[in-house]
Amino acid sequence: MKISADTATCIGAGQCALVAGDLFDQDDDGIVVLLGDEPAESQYVIARRAASLCPARAITITESA
Ligand code: SF4
Repeated sequence: MKISADTATCIGAGQCALVAGDLFDQDDDGIVVLLGDEPAESQYVIARRAASLCPARAITITESA
């Protein structure tokens, strides 16, 4: 799995950092900071949840084949 976060689309809602604090943080302006783009398998569920909760659809999950 690969995660990408589009800081240009992010509106700083903070849902990602709230549900997946190990994967996402926010900078001083509230904009998403990706802490790791290749999560451990144990983090897949929470990564998908963060992506689905983002109101700006700024988080993209690419599932590996
Ligand atoms: S949930 Fe989406 S809009 Fe909110 S901080 Fe995270 S990436 Fe940005």
